[in-house]
Amino acid sequence: MPEARDEPLIERLAVIGVGLIGSSILQAARAANAARVLVATDLSEKVRKRVIELQIADEVATDAATAVKVADLVIVCVPVGQMDAAAGAFAGSLKKGAIVSDVGSVKSAIVAAMQPKLPPHAHLIPAHPVAGTEHSGPDAGFAELFDNRWCIVTPPADADKAAAEKVIAFWHALGSNVEIMDPQHHDLVLAITSHLPHLIAYNIVGTASDLEEFLRAEVIKFSAGGFRDFTRIAASDPTMWRDVFLHNKDAVLEMLGRFNEDLASLAKAIRGGKGEELFELFTRTRAVRRSIIEIGQETAEPDFGRRRKKNEPVVPLARPYASD
Ligand code: NAP
Repeated sequence: MPEARDEPLIERLAVIGVGLIGSSILQAARAANAARVLVATDLSEKVRKRVIELQIADEVATDAATAVKVADLVIVCVPVGQMDAAAGAFAGSLKKGAIVSDVGSVKSAIVAAMQPKLPPHAHLIPAHPVAGTEHSGPDAGFAELFDNRWCIVTPPADADKAAAEKVIAFWHALGSNVEIMDPQHHDLVLAITSHLPHLIAYNIVGTASDLEEFLRAEVIKFSAGGFRDFTRIAASDPTMWRDVFLHNKDAVLEMLGRFNEDLASLAKAIRGGKGEELFELFTRTRAVRRSIIEIGQETAEPDFGRRRKKNEPVVPLARPYASD
């Protein structure tokens, strides 16, 4: 749980779209006392009702234009393909000097879509919390989601410095570590660290589900052999991921090209019985996982996707890896 501030950082925070990320922001902001008043809205009436039941916002507005009125910080938490429509719906109602941010998993396309919709007096400071689960909707949110996770903030070159600092301070208050990046660089980095792994998971699970019936039953039964870990990623929200691939096309295709070349080399090594080549690669990849554990971005437990609790100890490695 984030530490509670003595004084809120923001007077009025408006969250547009209360799915996993919007709900987690509201809960983390309340736990951290990051904003005095939390306002939420969502296109879906069912979601708005659920937000009232869950009591995760102080006010629930029926539309985005009402939600952003007098808000100091507006965070748009809708699927990437909906960002421009959402911005268009509230742009005319923003208070003078309001800060508009988002949480989209792609940055260049969102800046291009949102910036023209906003009035000149508003400050667009995009951000991407690199934290999530395969679940969706307001019930999936939790206050600890951003704890010790990275949030990448991508302010435009001519961004208002005070506005950028406010957004950075907000994410720090929610427990995140913050990195500043250029939107294009963000898209390239995330293409390999997040987008391509999702594409591979969707593909391998798709391949398995296309297998003949007699084989498919064994796939489920013996899934702990590795397949199970892909199924968690491949259970991610279809709308979100369709939008990510359509809006980060160039970077994903660039990384997919490199991946295909490396996969072809691996196939060649297997066909040619090149055990040393395989062993050398698998040793290097093992060291990559160890370094992720060492910087606290994962535990050594083989149970991906669980909720990390505050001060949860990082489970030490059972034995040194072969590369030691
Ligand atoms: P989610 O659980 O599906 O929630 C999105 C919510 O936004 C839904 O309730 C949706 O309503 C609503 N919505 C759609 N269009 C809207 C609009 N124009 N105005 C107001 N509300 C609207 O999605 P999420 O997982 O929280 O993802 C939200 C954003 O965070 C995405 O841009 C995603 O790329 C980014 N992100 C996600 C993760 C992750 O792991 N999930 C991690 C980091 C960043 P309907 O269902 O009725 O359409």
